[in-house]
Amino acid sequence: MKNSDYNTLFVNTFVRSGAPLVKGKGAYLFDAAGRKFLDFGTGIAVNAMGHTHAKLVKALREQGSKLLHVSNYYITPPQIEIALLLLKHSFGDRIFLCNSGTEANEGAIKFARKWAGQFSPDKYHILSFSDCFHGRTYGALSATSQERFHKGFEPICPGFHYAPFNDLSATRAVLDTFQFAAIFIELLQGEGGVNLVDKGFLSFLREYADAHRIALVFDEIQCGMGRTGALWCCEHYGITPDIMTVAKPVGGGLPLGAIICRNSVVECIKPGDHGTTFGGNPLACALGCVVLKEITKKSFLKGVKEKGAYLEEKLGALKLDYPVIQGVRGKGLFLGVRLNADPAPIVSKCKELGLLLIKAEHHTIRFLPPLNVTKSEIDEAVKLFEKALSLNQ
Ligand code: PLP
Repeated sequence: MKNSDYNTLFVNTFVRSGAPLVKGKGAYLFDAAGRKFLDFGTGIAVNAMGHTHAKLVKALREQGSKLLHVSNYYITPPQIEIALLLLKHSFGDRIFLCNSGTEANEGAIKFARKWAGQFSPDKYHILSFSDCFHGRTYGALSATSQERFHKGFEPICPGFHYAPFNDLSATRAVLDTFQFAAIFIELLQGEGGVNLVDKGFLSFLREYADAHRIALVFDEIQCGMGRTGALWCCEHYGITPDIMTVAKPVGGGLPLGAIICRNSVVECIKPGDHGTTFGGNPLACALGCVVLKEITKKSFLKGVKEKGAYLEEKLGALKLDYPVIQGVRGKGLFLGVRLNADPAPIVSKCKELGLLLIKAEHHTIRFLPPLNVTKSEIDEAVKLFEKALSLNQ
C-alpha cells in the first residue's frame, strides 16, 4: 500500500500522513520508512514513562503469560493492586475501573446523578466550563462545552450547562439557576489551550459544592498522574474533589481509566447500576501498577518539576526572537506555547524535522514529553522547534 493510501480504510476522523509508526524507545518513535521522531506528544499525554520502558515490557510479558481477561464478574490480583495504589495515593475511598477517559466521565455523571437524585428529582444538572474537554460519547460530549464538538451531533443530552472558566460571578449566577448534581472541571485544560484554574475560583467551587450538596468532579485525565510535577494537579491547590476521573497514562499505554470516589457519593450505587466488560483489564492494570509505583517516587516528581521549569524557561526565551510567540503556559511537563497565528504549519514543520507536538485551542502548541525525558532531549526538542519557527517566518 502506497504512503497515505491507508486513509481510505478508516472513517475520516483523523488527519494522518506519513509512514506507519512501527517502533518506540524512550522518547523516540520510528516509522516504517526508517525516520526517527522525538515524541513530545506522548500519544496525547499517555506514555509517561516513554516508549517500551523495560519495567513495562517485563510486566506485559509476566501478566500476558498468566491471564488476559475474565470480566468484572470476577476479580484479579492486578485490579486489587491498582485499586490499593490509587486509593493510597489519593483522597478516594473506592474506585471504578473502566477503559478510557470518556468512559470515566460517563460513569462519574451517572454516579453524581444517582447520588444527587436522592435529595430531589430535579437535582440532575451538570455544570462544566468554557474551553473544557471531557470526551466524545453523549454524556461526556454534552459536558464538553466547545460547540465545534457538538456540531452535527445534536441534540446533546439535556441538563448540561456551561459557565466561563475562572469567572466567579458568572459561574455563581449559573449555579444559582438550576439544581446541580455535579460540577466537572479540568484544573489544567488541555484541548482548550493549556489554561490553569485560579486558586480562588477552585476554592469557591469547593465551598459552593459543599453548601449545596453538589459533587465536585476533577477531570485529571490529561493533567493528572505526575504530569504537572505533583501526582495529581489538585495537590498544587490543596483542594480535593468528591470524584476524580483519570485515564491516559494510568494504563502505561493500554486502555485503562478510573473513577476515584468518596464513599459518600457512591454509597447509593448498587450492583447492576453500572458496568463494563473490559474495564480493569488485568494486563492494563498490571502496567498501571508499574507506572504508579514509578511516578509516586519523590525523586521522579522532583525530576518532572525541574525538567518542566527547564523546558518552560527555554521556550520562554524563544519569545525574544520570535514575536509569533505570545507566551508559555502550563505547569510541570504540561506546557503550551501560545502563538498569535495558526499553529498548524509550525506543528507540521516540526514533524518534518523530526519532532512530534500537538495543537490545542487558542493557537496553542502543546509540549507533553515523557515524564522521564532528559535535559538533552529537551535541548534537542527546543532546537527543532526553533528551526521550525525560523523556517516559518
Ligand atoms: N478528559 C480530558 C481532560 C481529556 O484530555 C480527554 C482526552 O483527550 C478525555 C477526557 C477523553 O479521554 P479518552 O480519549 O481516553 O476517552
